[in-house]
Amino acid sequence: MKERLYLFDTTLRDGAQMNGVDFTVQDKLKIAALLDDLGIDYVEGGYPGANPTDTELFADARKLNATFTAFGMTRRPGRSTSNDPGLVQLLDAKADAVCFVAKASDYQVRVALETTLEENLASIRDSVRAAKAKGREVLVDCEHFFDGYKANADYALACAQAAFEEGARWVVLCDTNGGTLPHEVETIVAAVAARIPGDHVGIHAHNDTEQAVANSLAAVRAGARQIQGTLNGLGERCGNANLISIIPTLKLKRDFAERFEIGVSDGKLKTLAHASRLLDEMLNRPPDRHAPYVGESAFVTKAGIHASAIAKDPATYEHVPPETVGNRRKLLVSDQSGRSNVLSELERIGLAVDKSDPRIGRLLEEVKAREARGYAYEAADASFELLARRMLGRVPNYFDVIRFDVTVEQRINARNERVTVTMAVVKVKVGEEELLSAAEGNGPVNALDLALRKDLGKYQRFIDGLKLTDYRVRILDGGTEAVTRVLIESEDERGERWITVGVSENIIDASFQALMDSIVYKLVKSGAPA
Ligand SMILES: [Zn+2]
Repeated sequence: MKERLYLFDTTLRDGAQMNGVDFTVQDKLKIAALLDDLGIDYVEGGYPGANPTDTELFADARKLNATFTAFGMTRRPGRSTSNDPGLVQLLDAKADAVCFVAKASDYQVRVALETTLEENLASIRDSVRAAKAKGREVLVDCEHFFDGYKANADYALACAQAAFEEGARWVVLCDTNGGTLPHEVETIVAAVAARIPGDHVGIHAHNDTEQAVANSLAAVRAGARQIQGTLNGLGERCGNANLISIIPTLKLKRDFAERFEIGVSDGKLKTLAHASRLLDEMLNRPPDRHAPYVGESAFVTKAGIHASAIAKDPATYEHVPPETVGNRRKLLVSDQSGRSNVLSELERIGLAVDKSDPRIGRLLEEVKAREARGYAYEAADASFELLARRMLGRVPNYFDVIRFDVTVEQRINARNERVTVTMAVVKVKVGEEELLSAAEGNGPVNALDLALRKDLGKYQRFIDGLKLTDYRVRILDGGTEAVTRVLIESEDERGERWITVGVSENIIDASFQALMDSIVYKLVKSGAPA
């Protein structure tokens, strides 16, 4: 019988502390759904009351399989739980669980909290009791636990024990400053697990010595049974423990796989690389090519003796099979895996093609050439499908855009305010009919989109429910000149979403390509007649 290990994701709370990361409520819901789908046990959404986004996020019940968790502070010193507005707001949040952060270091209690050691313990007990009375599952993050333990082990343990004895489901040991080393973590967690059962102990590691993953695994070896971390190691300073590295290690490395099971199935493990890249796309940052397990280069081998050995047996130079985590093997000389990759994609989207069809080779060449120019078909699934369908001769020519014109004008209006007005005019030909539409927008791309979708004649009814839900621009270093890549996410009336891509030196051209792909994809998907 394997022991259960629990995964707690804090991408939306601790991860959001990272410089340059700013999630909207919609972003948070998307990421929560991604985590839920993966099989993560706990999703920490944020800190209700700390900012309007998190307050809104917890205003409605979010239906997840995971335990949706709200983060907040234990009651302030000298207050009662009912007389602490922050705590009251936290307990009113629509969450399954509450994760309190509490000080566990005597130094921090005296200097940062400016209160007595006894009052801090009382605050932990009272807060846990109040949250339990509200029917919440309770976790207590013991902040600065490891530094606190080294300075005053008895007090750090007293904090952890206070939380556990009051009924907290999990007592989480935090390496808040991220400076603790794996052998120290293992020793200290073992000391805690001698007092508190390990299946109530969690680890929250930061990556300041690049050992957050190692520290998390060391804690598990010493008895902890919950791991807190983030997708792609997102987080303040050097980041949190990277769940994207921890998950495959737990599932694929024998010492862990034989002893433990986690909520992530083998099938979902195969979506890990995709989940990692999706998060980077949302953050509009390039994925780390060298990320363990999921990076584009994680299973790339250059020509030479390694490549010829891999061709004989991949295990010669690979620590795990790349497909187990949804990545792929690449031999930089003859890319045979590219062909099987394209074939499996065609199968996924339901395009039946004979394996020996010469058009598959041409499609692969085309994808490679376009990706070299900046197209990102891994993210833009809808654009890939259109490209494949076009090469296989299966996309009707629904309409032609004869011309478009976008103007941006800045002027002073009648109220003496400086305003920018954008207008787009689009002329399309649908069958024998020529249609002219104009629209104003809050930017050139928005105006172009509105004009393009205003009147498509007989196709209009197929795109009425279409809306753009995300628009992302990235400047790529395309060798001699910088090019712009635009990714557009669209949604239809049934809530289905897809992503299209455009690439050009000109941002309007790139946006136009992505917009056109989105509309044509919707027409194909709706079975619009040619
Ligand atoms: Zn943290």
